[in-house]
Amino acid sequence: MKKRTKGFEGRVFLVGAGPGDPELLTKKAERIIKEADVILYDQLIGSEIIKSFPAGAELIDVGKHAGLHKFEQDEITQMLIEHAREGKIVVRLKGGDPYLFGRGGEEAEALAAEGIGVEVVPGVTSAIAAPACAGIPVTHRECASMVTFITGHEDPTKEKSALDWNLLAKMSGTLVVLMGVKGIERNVNALLRRGKNPETPVALVERGTTDEQKVTIGVLRNIVQLAEAAGVKPPAVMVIGDVVRLHETLGRRK
Ligand code: SAH
Repeated sequence: MKKRTKGFEGRVFLVGAGPGDPELLTKKAERIIKEADVILYDQLIGSEIIKSFPAGAELIDVGKHAGLHKFEQDEITQMLIEHAREGKIVVRLKGGDPYLFGRGGEEAEALAAEGIGVEVVPGVTSAIAAPACAGIPVTHRECASMVTFITGHEDPTKEKSALDWNLLAKMSGTLVVLMGVKGIERNVNALLRRGKNPETPVALVERGTTDEQKVTIGVLRNIVQLAEAAGVKPPAVMVIGDVVRLHETLGRRK
């Protein structure tokens, strides 16, 4: 831990790491990461960014999975509180933007409730950047004057959906679904059953902005089968709406 002036109070920086491409990390995020005493990072942080972590910092991978211990949300919050109380500069690094899904707001609230200073460093969200790198602007003057971001993975213990699927099916504009690979069939059917046009264009963008980016294009009526055939895996965003047609002209990657 770096030497700091006496009475230095620890604080937590809730930092967005961007969607994967290391060049999409902001300058501010880069600077704060360099100053960190401890970094708690998620599963979706690009490996190039992990390689750039400062040598002296304590690194805690809170997104470990596949047989390894995965930290519960409460444990993560507790660790943030403890490290901050020890007077450290704590970086909580999250994929994309820290306040778009991924429970950033909850972590910030818990810290605020403990009287710990929190500063948020916005990041480039995958919800816009992944479609962009697939040649899909989420809005376009001619075909989408609004965009809606939804979670495709609702808490299964919830009694009632927090999403108004009737409204979502009726809305014009673009719908971007995050965390929606596992529940793709359920979500697509939810829209079709409520009368969304089966010919509405759909794109699935996997690992958007990275060298492994993969795009699957279809329409609402066939995207589930196409996703299965293409072996689509998370992380991916699903874009539903006429803007997807722009992929044809803007989606070529060098
Ligand atoms: N705060 C993050 C989102 C966290 S939820 C952000 O702003 O990007 C995690 C979901 O984000 C994943 O399930 C996936 O839907 C999406 N995601 C994250 N990185 C992605 C990427 N590189 N390409 C496509 N989708 C991505």
